[in-house]
Order: sequence, then structure tokens, then C-alpha cells
Amino acid sequence: MTARFVYPSGGEGTSGMRHVFAATPQRVYWEVTRACDLACRHCRAEAQPCRAPEELDSAEARRMIDQIAAVGSPRPHLIFTGGDPLKRPDLFDLVAHAVSKGLPVSVSPAVTGLLTRDTLRALRTAGVEAISLSLDGSDAARHDGLRGVPGTFARTLEATRAAIEEGLLVQVNTLVTSATLPDLPAIDELVSRLGAQRWSLFFLVTVGRGRELGQISPEDCETLFAWVRERSRRVGGPVVTTTEAPHYRRGLLEQGARQGAGDGAATAAPPGGPPGHARGFGIRDGNGILFISYSGDVCPSGFLPLVAGNVRTSDPIDVYRSSPLFLSLRDPSSFHGKCGRCEYRHVCGGSRARAWAATGDPLGSDPLCAYEPPVHEHEVGSSDGPARGSSLAAADSANETHSPPARASHDHAALGRRQLRLQ
Ligand code: SF4
Repeated sequence: MTARFVYPSGGEGTSGMRHVFAATPQRVYWEVTRACDLACRHCRAEAQPCRAPEELDSAEARRMIDQIAAVGSPRPHLIFTGGDPLKRPDLFDLVAHAVSKGLPVSVSPAVTGLLTRDTLRALRTAGVEAISLSLDGSDAARHDGLRGVPGTFARTLEATRAAIEEGLLVQVNTLVTSATLPDLPAIDELVSRLGAQRWSLFFLVTVGRGRELGQISPEDCETLFAWVRERSRRVGGPVVTTTEAPHYRRGLLEQGARQGAGDGAATAAPPGGPPGHARGFGIRDGNGILFISYSGDVCPSGFLPLVAGNVRTSDPIDVYRSSPLFLSLRDPSSFHGKCGRCEYRHVCGGSRARAWAATGDPLGSDPLCAYEPPVHEHEVGSSDGPARGSSLAAADSANETHSPPARASHDHAALGRRQLRLQ
């Protein structure tokens, strides 16, 4: 399975217009097939070598693409994922169709013998803007051990260089687990040397085969966030983003507040962040994100496989806009536990997928977050109730980035004390 794609923007479409998440998803992930020749230990899709008979056929896929494109400007970014999208013979036709309808398109191929230079060139010719490739170790032993197929590490480096030469933007995805955590600085150096434009850290959600892997602790997550913030100040190298870790935004806001930005950092988002920081405040599973499975099921994300409809019988945008599941995921006042009372719930909200994976409740709390929001007096005895009166409530529509602090971080010393755990 290939990891999810987060390119190229957050709250803004390619037109520069902002997505209003209640009306329009910013990213639509379509699992074009579950077929894949790899056997990744963390595969969400639990991919199989052969295509399933339930896959959407070409006509169904075209109709679905038309429905997504009909949403108007700014149109969502359509990410062809899998499984391995290259296992689908009509992939290039479907990409070209989506591009002809005005949809920005990215593809997340698996690194197998199917991903040749000719394939990369054909993707570019069909109109693909960017691809994402997974790199989960700084050497062959680490990466191939997770991917399950020897030689994948070398092929990934080769594919990354070839894709860049063919004019594709490349995002490298790296899974964050207890096993990969110490290797991240070395992977960072490798990604920088390769020349990839973006490096996305995907924080493990224990679904699919990912249940077999080790989650990092909330404390290590905080240390990693501080490292990413420091790392993102570096000039040059790829833009670093986080996936399934919306509480990274909380750290940015806390840092901004410590350095004097105060509440303004949370309520008045600047028009754009400097290089090194992703846009996308407020985006999370079901809020700006829509996932369509190989068989047409409509879900809030690939890691939150709760089915709200099926494209064979419903318009996916209608499902996104009006299904009770999506409506509740877009309403932080419906969240339970600490995420429900947290003052950062509108800009963060926690990973809904991780909350579901850990508790069975998609509106529950994200167990990877170390923050303990204060319990207000009126909430004692009803800790599952929504918070009220937060100065951050006004940030509900802030889908864009917040500027990182301009001055040196106050938590730099703390980071230094714990840095060895990452290296
Ligand atoms: S408690 Fe929930 S909403 Fe608050 S910062 Fe943590 S994950 Fe985000």
C-alpha cells in the first residue's frame, strides 16, 4: 500500500481560492485498486496481488470523477492511491480524464518493476503533477524489512531521481513508528540529497497490517514535533509536513504564544507560511478529506473506514456534505473526552482515525496527544461535554497555515536534552 498524499497545498486550491470544508473537500483520495505486488507491514488496505472483482469499472470511475469535478472552483486535489494504481490498466486514461475536467492529479504508485522511467514519463504526459513514494528507512535493511520485498530501497531512490528528472514533483512519505523514529534524521538527510520537494511524516494509525507495528509515545511525539519545527527553519531541503498528526498545529500555536504572538496566532492566520511549513490548519479526516475505496465506498479517510455511502448509488460530494458521519466529524463540539473540551479543537481536533482505531469512537480523543486541556468548573462531572468560550472558536474556518514563530524556540533546550532519542 502506498501512503497518503499531501501535495501540493492546504487550505487553498490551485486557483488560490480557499476551500470551505463544509462544502468542498480539499483532497479526494481514490483507492483505484487494492492490488499490489508489495507486502508492506503497515498496509492499510491489506493489499493483495490481484485486482478484486468489486473494483469500480472504467465507466463508474469516470462518472465519479465527473461528480467530483462538478463541485466547481476551487476543485479538490484528486490522489490516485492503492494498492498500487499501476496495477490498473486504465490508469492513464482515468488520469487524463480527471485532468481534462480541471482536477489537479497526483498518483501514489508502489515501487515495483511496474514503476519504470517510461511509466513516470507517461504519468507526466497524462497530466499528473506529482507523485508520492514511500521511504521508511535510511538503508536497504530498514526499508526493505518494512516493505517485505528486497531491492525496494534501491528502486525507490532510483524512482525518486527519475521522477524529478521527468518533471514530476515528488513527495517522500515516511511512516513514524517506534522502529523508524531513531532513523528519521538519517532519512531526512537522504530525502534532502535526493532532491524531493516534500517530505511527509505519516504518524502511524493502527489499522490494517499497521496493527503489528509499534506506536510512539505521546512524549516522543512532542519531541519529534519540536525537532520538525527546528528542522523546518532550515533553508533548502524538502518542505516537511505531518499526516494524521493535527496536534502538530497545537505545538506551533503554543510556540507562537510563548514568543509573544498570543491569541492572535490562533485566531488570525497570516496569508501564508514561510517555506518549511505545510498549510492545512483545520483539515483532518472528514473535514477537507474524502476517501473513496476500490469498491466505491465513501469514507472520511483511508484510515477511518467507516462507510457513509457508495458512489454506485450516491454522489460522493453529496455524501461528504450531508451524511451524519461527515457532519459530526466536521463539528468539534461533538467530540468526546479531552478533544471535545480542548481549546485547540477547531484548528486541531485530533486524528479522528487514531481515535477510532484506539477506542472504536471516531469522535473520541486522539491517544497520541500529550496535551491535557484544562477542565473548567462548569464541566466537572461532564468531561465529555464540549468546551465553550474558547478564544480559538473563531478559528473554526481557519483552514490555512499559521506562521511559525520567527524567533528561536524556547523549547530548544528541552529538544536538545531529548534529541538523542531521535538519532
Ligand atoms: S487534546 Fe485533541 S484537540 Fe486538543 S491538541 Fe490534543 S489532539 Fe488536538
